[in-house]
This record gives sequence, C-alpha cells and structure tokens, in this order.
Amino acid sequence: MIDQSALSPMMQQYMELKRQHQNHILFFRLGDFYEMFFEDAKLASRELELTLTGRDCGMAERAPMCGVPHHSCEGYIARLIKKGYKVAICEQMEDPREAKGMVKREVVRVITPGTLIEAGMLDEGIHNFIASLYLDHGFYGLAVADISTGDIHLTQFEEGDDSWVENELSRFSPSEIIFNSIFLGKNEVATFIKERLRCCADLLEDEMYEPKAVGRIIRAQFQKSLEELGLADKSAACAALGGLIGYLKNTQKTGLDRMISIDLYSDTRFMQLDLTARRNLELTATMRSGEKRGSLLWVIDKTRTAMGKRMLRMYLEQPLVNAAIIEKRLNAVEELFSGSVLRCEIIDCLSGIYDIERLMTRIVYGSAAPRELKSFEQAISRLPQLKEKVSGTKSQFLQEIYNQIDEMKDLCDLIARAIADNPPITLKDGGVINLGYNEELDHLRGLLSNTKDILAALEADEREKSGIKTLKISYNKVFGYYIEVTKSYMDQVPDRYIRKQTLANCERYVTQELKELEDQILGANDKIMSIETKLFDDVRSRIAQNVARIQITAAAVARLDVFSSLAELAVLNNYCRPDILAKPGEITIKDGRHPVAEAILGGAPFVANDTKLNNTDQQIAIITGPNMAGKSTYIRQTALIVLLAQIGSFVPARAARIGIVDGIFTRVGASDDIASGQSTFMVEMSELAQILKNATRDSLLILDEVGRGTSTFDGMSIARAVIEYIADSKKLGAKTMFATHYHELTELEEAMSCVKNYNTAVKKRGDEITFLRKIVPGGIDDSYGIEVSKLAGIPDWIIRRAHEILVQLEAAQPVSQRRASARTLESLTGQLSLAGAAPSPVEQELKQLDPNTLTPIEALTKLFELKGMAGR
Ligand code: ADP
Repeated sequence: MIDQSALSPMMQQYMELKRQHQNHILFFRLGDFYEMFFEDAKLASRELELTLTGRDCGMAERAPMCGVPHHSCEGYIARLIKKGYKVAICEQMEDPREAKGMVKREVVRVITPGTLIEAGMLDEGIHNFIASLYLDHGFYGLAVADISTGDIHLTQFEEGDDSWVENELSRFSPSEIIFNSIFLGKNEVATFIKERLRCCADLLEDEMYEPKAVGRIIRAQFQKSLEELGLADKSAACAALGGLIGYLKNTQKTGLDRMISIDLYSDTRFMQLDLTARRNLELTATMRSGEKRGSLLWVIDKTRTAMGKRMLRMYLEQPLVNAAIIEKRLNAVEELFSGSVLRCEIIDCLSGIYDIERLMTRIVYGSAAPRELKSFEQAISRLPQLKEKVSGTKSQFLQEIYNQIDEMKDLCDLIARAIADNPPITLKDGGVINLGYNEELDHLRGLLSNTKDILAALEADEREKSGIKTLKISYNKVFGYYIEVTKSYMDQVPDRYIRKQTLANCERYVTQELKELEDQILGANDKIMSIETKLFDDVRSRIAQNVARIQITAAAVARLDVFSSLAELAVLNNYCRPDILAKPGEITIKDGRHPVAEAILGGAPFVANDTKLNNTDQQIAIITGPNMAGKSTYIRQTALIVLLAQIGSFVPARAARIGIVDGIFTRVGASDDIASGQSTFMVEMSELAQILKNATRDSLLILDEVGRGTSTFDGMSIARAVIEYIADSKKLGAKTMFATHYHELTELEEAMSCVKNYNTAVKKRGDEITFLRKIVPGGIDDSYGIEVSKLAGIPDWIIRRAHEILVQLEAAQPVSQRRASARTLESLTGQLSLAGAAPSPVEQELKQLDPNTLTPIEALTKLFELKGMAGR
C-alpha cells in the first residue's frame, strides 16, 4: 500500500490520474519523456525491456520508474497494444516555464487496439474496427467503427441463433469489442470471441447503454434526430452505437468529429459467410500461415491506394446478394476492362494518391504533422485530373464517382500557399509556414535575418536627424540596445532620447523606437513560433471543417480504385464477365479455374474444368478420385468463382452463369484442421451441424471429405445420410459439391435423380499413375491410394507389402462385393481381420522353415529364393 499523504505533490498528481485509469498503463509526461511508475513501471520494463530505475517520491523508498522519450513513443506503445494492454497518454497541459506551481497534466487519450490512428501502428490495407455489441429485449445491436477512417456500420437483428452474431463479427474481424452485461451469460459468443476472433473484449457498464443517454449522445454526434438517422425504432442498434460513441468519447477526448455518417445495413444485404467458410476459402489469409500471400485477396488485389485496398477487402468480406447492384458493379468493371487507355490513365492517376481517409483523421484529431498536410495536398492535387478522366464514362457507378469526386481546389490552394514545400518534421523546428502567407510573420522573420541592416539604417537615420556624426547603436546584456553619444556632442542630443547610463567620456540613451525594435528582435523567435503554430492550426482546422466533402471524395476514389483493380485483374488473368441471374438456382461454369492455384502454378498449365449445378437434376455433385488428384481445388474453385461474381468481379472461366446464392458453407476434411482443443471429429460434426442449420435451398455447400474423422463405416454412413438429407428438398435442397474418397457413395446417383457423379481422371500405366486434373462424369472404382503413396516417396518395401495385403483382401471378398468397394482398404478392414486372410506363398514357405537347421549359406540361398517369390 502506498501512503498517499507522504507522497510528493507531483506523485500525488500521478496517483490521482492513475486512480482514474486503473486498467491502463499510464504514460506520464515529464519534460521530454513519458514516465511510468510503480506497478506500471515494473510491467513496462518487463514487456519493453526498459531499464527500471527509481525516483524520489517523498516516501522512504524510491518509486520504481521507467520511461521512453516522447518523440519515439509510438513504437513502444504499439508493442504494448499488440500484447493486449491499453495505454493512457497523460500530457502537460501548460508550458512548465509559465506554470505557477505544479504543471497541469491531463490524460488526453487512451490508446486501445480498436482506437489506433497512427499510420505506424496500422496496416494500410486493413480496416481497424472496434465493435460494440448490445443485447436486450430479444434484439442484438451491433455498431462497428474504424476511427482511423471515420467509417461506422450499424445493424440490428433478432435474438435467436447466435451464429448471426458470429457471422457479423467475422465479417469485420474487429480488433476490439465492447459489450453489455447480458453477454456475460452468453458463453458461446464469449468463446467465439476469445478463441476464434482472438481480440480484446471488455464489458462496458450498463449505464453507458441507457436509452436516454444514448439518444442524447447520438443526436449530439451526428447533429440529427434518431428519425432522420433511421434509428427511431431500433433501440438495440441505438444502444450499441451510443455505447460505442460514449466509449470513444471517454478514451479519445478529441477527433470524433471525424465520424459524421452511419452505414445502417440489414443482414439480408450480404451473402452468408461464416468464419469457417471465410477461413476455408482463404479469402484474405491462408489457413496455414495466416498470411495474405496465397489468399484470394492476394491474387485479386491490384489496387493502387490504401483506401482502395481496404474497400476491396470489404467487398470480398461481404459479397452481395442483390443482382441489380452486382450488375452495376460489373458494368463499371466492364467499362474499364474494355477501355484500356482509360483504365491505364486512371491507374496512373491513382498511383500517387496517399491515404486521404487516414490523413484526414489525423488532421481532425489535431495530430497531423506538417508533412502529413503536404501529403494531403499532394493527394488532392491529383483529383481534378482523376475527375476529368472519369468524366466521359457511361456506367452508372462511374458516373456516380464522377459526381462524388470534389476537386477540392480551394483546400489544395490553401495548403500550397500556407505550408512550405519540404516542411520540417515538427512545428517546433520552425519554417513550416510559407513566405508571403502572413505579413506579420514575414516581418518578424525579416527582422531576425536583417537585424544588422536594420540597426545600421536606424543608426544612420539618427546621425542624420541629430547631426551627431559619432553616434553609435550598440548592445549589451544588461541594458540591451542603446545609442551612445560622446561627451563632446551632448548639447546636440534630442529631447526624445532617454538617458540610461553615464560613462567617463560618453552617455548612453534609448529611444521609444529603439525599445520597440529591441522587443521585436528579442521576442521575434518566440513570436515566430507562436504565429506559425497558430497559422498551422488554423489551416488544419479549416481543412477539418471539410470532413464531409473529403469523406465522400475519398470513398469515391476508393471505389474507382477497386473497379480499376478488378478490370486490371480481368485483363491480366484472362477473366470473363459472369452472367448474373437474379433468380437463384443455376450455376454453370465453362472452363473454370481456381484463381489462386493458377496464380501459384506460375508457368505450369492449370487444367480448366466445367461445373454444372442446379436445384433439380444436378443438385449434388459427388466427386471421387484419389488423393492429390484435384478434388478440393475443383470444389473450392466453384465457390470462389461464385463469390467473385457476387462481389461484382469478372471470374476465372471462359463463361459463367451464376444464379445468386444466399450463402456459401464449407466443411473441409478433419485432417486439415489445426488442433483446437476439441477432437477433430467433434469439430467436423459441429461445423456440419451449423451448416445444416443455417444453409437454405439457395445456398452453395462445399463439403470435402465429410466423415473422414471416424471409422470407415461410421464415416461412410454419416456421409451418405448427409447427402440424403441435403438432397431432400423438404429438408434442405441446397446445391452441393461433395468431394469424397468413399467411392461407395457413387451408388447414390442411381438412387437419387438429383445426384451426379464426377471423378478426377487419372492415367494408369503399371504401377505409375498420372493425374490429368480433368473432371469427368461418372464414379471411380479405385482409390489408387498405394500409387499415390508411391508418388509421395513411401519406401518400396511398404508399397510392395501394401499390394500383397490388398491382393489378399480382394481375394477374400465375395466377388459380388468387389466392384462396389473395389480396392478400398478401409472398406474391407471392417469385414475381415488381417489374421483371417489366406497366407501368401512366401508366408507359407516361411512358416515351414526352421532357421536352426540352416547353414549360413543355405539361409542366404533361401532368402534369395523368397525374394524371387515376392517379386513375382
Ligand atoms: P485432392 O483434394 O484430390 O486431394 P487437391 O485439390 O488438393 O487434391 O490438389 C492437389 C494439387 O494438384 C494442388 O495442390 C494443385 O497444385 C494441383 N491441381 C489441382 N487441380 C489442378 C488443375 N485443375 N490443374 C492443375 N493443377 C491442379
């Protein structure tokens, strides 16, 4: 325990601030350092490898202390935030030189994972979202904001299945979540947030969600009534939003003016994609390494600006279900696809545009440095040219973009006039404001650089006026500037001279004019600094007042970047425009390719394949074939083509007709799972259960090796029952691609008219097989497991032995069953034990042998003989 009364006044000030920020690491500004004390110091020194020192605090023992220089604090803060801590920044609120008594200090901001705005702590291509979840009276409210760009998304939906919450959170993958107390009882959601999203989550006090308070806070923030915002009957959404803004106000203090509009959406606007599907389809990161490289986004991202990068990611995270909007996007992409010159010119223009959205946030927050303002100017200076490029376009979305791009010549002009080219890093270095922008500043700067000339001119002037030829203007530290007149000229000294000092042979004077000049010269530096700061702040706030214009323009630039990127992608990778069918049902793809696999193969040819699915005679495609033949690639490529079509992109195919799907659901083989606490089979089944619960007739199901995680007969029975369930239009009736190595399932084609068999063709010559990668109609009656093992480099001995066992197993099976289960080892192991198999000739020979009676030479001869038999 610390005895507060014994503490020095500054430490008492520290303790008071710390009391208000118990859950944060307090960065306490002391001169040029941020210092941490007591427990914070111990923790930070450990986490940041800083030297732990001590400071006298009034008590017998020194207070543990460590610190970081204020100019390089960003890196340290970023490291703490990454480790899950929150950092409260406490600044000196007055100049210590002018402070009377203790310097006033305040916490100006709490930095949390979801409230970063520093470019160095953010990934330019990814939104950094904070989510606020609210549940009460049977409704969920969800508000999601990126304060670094000013985006706010808001929705409300009925409580029921928790998978809705999980899907919505997956869509945004926030780095921080706040929630109301009811969620404490929602174990599933809590587990999902903790174990799958792995983000920082905190309970917000219930008062923060109180209806009257949230109404007030929303009206104040957006300067509109709840009716005008469309929130009158959405109390859960209001609570989520109000709670969020309240939290941001408490932590950010400034800068929230940046958030001026809300994207109020309903969950029916987007395709259903749960976290499992997003991860399995590797939309933005690979399953194995979690990196962007190797993901779909990696292939399709040809954007030139950070804003475009973030928007493309959002497009991919939320494919649409509205055919009309998809068509409009496709029209824009097609116009840029066909107009090569236009596309190249636009891409060229976009290339130099910095991140207007995030620069804007720093401008509004007041934390933008002079160079950031210059970057902002450079970015907006390209807008007129960009707008001009889009002026003749025809498609509706490009026309909209044209109308939304504000050239902002006035702001560009303002910065160009006010801020010097290549300004210094900080305001303190001086020279930020241009010459000619402000008269007083120019005068002061002139004064400093011309001090000598000005004094010489004044001296000459005084000599002339007084007629005293030896009059001199000089300077000393005690009296400052003075006029010196030798005794012989005393009678000519004008009345306006004020005597300062008498020496043996001269007198020293000042005049009103000289006094003023002195003040000006001596105060010029301080004054220059304060005028520069004032002018800079003024420019900054004049730009900040234009948030709305800039936001709309930035969004338009981002969209243009996305459309150009999709057009460029289509040209470079030879994609085609899909036909979008508003009525769900058909999916027909001619010569489809897997966008990522073909990119990774580089020069090697990717074999294109057709897909045909509908809700009648081609509802379920069962794809059989050996491992590594290309089943997974094929079924995933169908999902990716549908998904690309529904974000408004061209697709890797020769032609495609895509009936809108309302959701894509995936389940991949148990072997592909990374250990997650539960048994892999349990994970497989619970994911399957979720799919069967949430999918509809209009969904697309991608099921890869369902039932693999258990014994053969169990697995096969489950797989078969699942197909029967999906096939039944009264139960589900969803279009499904089902890849399996249980070729027994191909029997289903005969039993059900909606099932079609396909297989991945292989060419076999002797023991060698070649994958042709071609999907052909029909089932397969061989797993080629042994051949594939050989390809993989399994030792020859095992391959030979496996063949022997297989022959025995086949021989032991009734002829009538041989075709159905053919050479699948697993399908037979349940029926007969290896011990029961007929012994091979080699085994028979071995049984009869008595090694004790053999000479070494005989033994060797026998061994050669046995080997010969085995070879046969
Ligand atoms: P399976 O699911 O049948 O075990 P995969 O789909 O994982 O097989 O494919 C194995 C490998 O074959 C992939 O990594 C890919 O490199 C290659 N491949 C798959 N399909 C094709 C294709 N259509 N053209 C060329 N290579 C392919």
